[in-house]
Amino acid sequence: MERLKRAEGLSIYRRWRPQRFSEVVDQRLVVETLRRAVAQGKLAHAYLFSGQRGVGKTSVARILARAANCLAPQDGEPCNECENCRRILSGRSLNVVEIDGASNRGIDQIRKLREEVSYVPAGARYKVYIIDEVHMLTGEAFNALLKTLEEPPPHVIFIFATTEPHKVPPTVLSRCQAFEFSPIPERLIQEKVLEIAQEEGIELEEEAAELIARRAGGSLRDAEVLLEQLAHGGRVTADQVVELLGLPNLAEVDGFLSALIEKDAKAALETVEDLASRGRDLGLFLEEAAARARDRIIDGDTRFIPLARRLLELRAELTRAISQRLHLEVEILSLCGPPKGSAMKAKETGRKPQETAPQLVKAEPTPLEPKPVQAEKPASPKTEGEAAQSKEDPWNAMLAAMLEERASVAAFLAPAKAELTDGVLTIRLPEECRFHYESLLEPDVRAYVEEMAQRFFGALLALDIRWEGKEDEGPSLEERAQLVAKTLEGKIIKEETDAGTR
Ligand SMILES: [Zn+2]
Repeated sequence: MERLKRAEGLSIYRRWRPQRFSEVVDQRLVVETLRRAVAQGKLAHAYLFSGQRGVGKTSVARILARAANCLAPQDGEPCNECENCRRILSGRSLNVVEIDGASNRGIDQIRKLREEVSYVPAGARYKVYIIDEVHMLTGEAFNALLKTLEEPPPHVIFIFATTEPHKVPPTVLSRCQAFEFSPIPERLIQEKVLEIAQEEGIELEEEAAELIARRAGGSLRDAEVLLEQLAHGGRVTADQVVELLGLPNLAEVDGFLSALIEKDAKAALETVEDLASRGRDLGLFLEEAAARARDRIIDGDTRFIPLARRLLELRAELTRAISQRLHLEVEILSLCGPPKGSAMKAKETGRKPQETAPQLVKAEPTPLEPKPVQAEKPASPKTEGEAAQSKEDPWNAMLAAMLEERASVAAFLAPAKAELTDGVLTIRLPEECRFHYESLLEPDVRAYVEEMAQRFFGALLALDIRWEGKEDEGPSLEERAQLVAKTLEGKIIKEETDAGTR
């Protein structure tokens, strides 16, 4: 269908508003149901459209308003040509009223609505009230609205749109046919943005479109607004998007992921150092890394399943970390093992405490920058005697020693709480640390922890490692994959399948 001209001074997102159900990006279940309802003349009196911003709620409401009043509807679609359609499109129709629930005038408009609502619309079948951000209405306005909803005149249709359906009173909800608009998959946003760019004569790199789509977070409107902002400079490159949005560089993210998969601690640590020196947001970087790992899983590379999961956990942990950089570095070491060529002889030396204790003191510094490590952890590892005499918490002393010997085990224990009662050392891992917990149960790791605990806590009867999450038999590989996909980005794998049949 023809687009409104650029000369009209409208923004891209206004000009590209869908005008028919078939033009709506995604939301197929919603638009199909509505289109059929129009075609069969089975319209409800009140609809509730819920979903995040920028996914098409208001656009669909307007299409529905036209379709309901169109003089020549085509299989439930508005013709957009007849007098009624044109009048509504130009905003001159008195039969389609849009109310912004967030505005102060809400209550006045609802009062006015109650007065008008009984009049049969002039020249149209339905009077349609579109109330945006309906959850923002005051209690008073809701009460006024409810009186109308209880006995709706046959010629009235209400369409409520909201980003927060849980804030809409149940008395109102129960009178509505509800539709949930889902976030739009990145792939569809990317395709749409490329299509728009082509039509608008904007040179847009494929990778730039991908970045815009990712940044839009499921909102097509946000993507369109971004495109418009970026297009002012002529050609839109991935570098520009990265720069303007402060996004992580994709090549850098991919390099980091490869380093983790290949257990190249040195390369991964260098990336972190580089990011930190440029003042980049490590959390955003991890988020991007998790998203890229998800893409690899979808492409069939199962090596990324545990990694994607770990990256997400890590992203959440970073917000609570005292030093984000240190936290990330320790995690890299736990994932990759010590950097190759390191002076550490971790696994072997960790075994026999009697022999290792004296060696530890003289242990050469590791290539992992020791400064932040020392800032957070108690300084030097202690021998058995020292630990017993020291006022220092034996748990912290033990972790510090482990950090030197087997950094990965220290990382597994770092989020845990420890308690010594009657000779039993209980180590509790919080719910989000299942991976840590499972890793600690590896016989080799457990033996090492036991050994170290004996050394730092003195005579110990038993070691009890617990996880505070729900115990079950543990997810299968397939369940894990689903879990990862679910945690990562809603129903991405399912959407992938849907897109394939499109
Ligand atoms: Zn029409």
